[in-house]
Amino acid sequence: MTQRVALIGRPLRRRHSEVMHNAAFHRYEVDAKYELRELAPSELSGFIVEVHDPGWLGFQVTAPYKQAVMEHLDEIEPDAQAIGAVNSGTRREDGVLVGFNTDAPGFRRAVEEELGVRFSGITAVVVGAGGAARAVVHALVSGGALEVIVGNRTVSHARDLAGDFGDPVTGMGMDAGFEEWLGRAALAVNATTVGMASSGPPFDVGALPVSAVVFDLIYTPAESELLRRARARGLRAANGLEMLVAQAAIAFERWTGIPDAAPVMRAALVPLG
Ligand code: NAP
Repeated sequence: MTQRVALIGRPLRRRHSEVMHNAAFHRYEVDAKYELRELAPSELSGFIVEVHDPGWLGFQVTAPYKQAVMEHLDEIEPDAQAIGAVNSGTRREDGVLVGFNTDAPGFRRAVEEELGVRFSGITAVVVGAGGAARAVVHALVSGGALEVIVGNRTVSHARDLAGDFGDPVTGMGMDAGFEEWLGRAALAVNATTVGMASSGPPFDVGALPVSAVVFDLIYTPAESELLRRARARGLRAANGLEMLVAQAAIAFERWTGIPDAAPVMRAALVPLG
């Protein structure tokens, strides 16, 4: 019997996850299929009931359901609980549906491998205070970052996030004080939709020291305005594609026990541009 996995969200505009997982199922001869399921909010609880069936390996979640799905699950792993968001789930053999988060370890793996940066002892600046920013901040804090400064358009969202994580996280608006922190950053991260959903860079790369590296969670377009400006300044910079691949490979291993599907997944994305 072909087992099933689905990505739920609304809208589902990109096929990257479907392409990556189905390529890996094919390559490793796992009889399973990954599908896209665009759901209305009223369909969420019914979907979770459906995934309890033994025909399912698990599921993935994207906007706007990463928080909303949590109340429907049987168990949530501590990292996902700390982040406040679930992006993946697995159906255990005893039928229990467990939610977890692969965005945080995916981010850490991508920054380490693409930019050679480890989080221990660094000062990092994160722009954005949504679900992705929470995963990024969790990865930085659990990786031993010394200071994590969260800047956001809506100041209260940044302060709420910082309050949830506590020391060493500070939340603030995008003001002069934030520019000062940019000047001390070893790593600057864009975790907003600016550069994809709206134009322009989310912060001024001119304020960063020349030793800083820039990571943009956005991967379409492949080179955002932020990355273009960072590279023009001579800063090392990476987009979010490798994070997408890494988080997918971590979920794939949880469902199948097969490690390191990342190269197969990465190759499968090439035709998507
Ligand atoms: P979200 O929860 O909707 O948060 C959006 C964030 O962007 C908020 O901080 C929001 O600020 C800010 N923002 C939106 N429009 C803005 C504007 N015009 N000016 C300034 N700030 C603006 O979204 P999310 O789930 O965190 O996702 C954020 C980004 O990360 C998306 O582009 C997503 O595709 C990407 N992502 C990538 C990966 C990966 O694997 N590469 C994984 C997860 C997410 P306010 O609080 O002021 O509204």
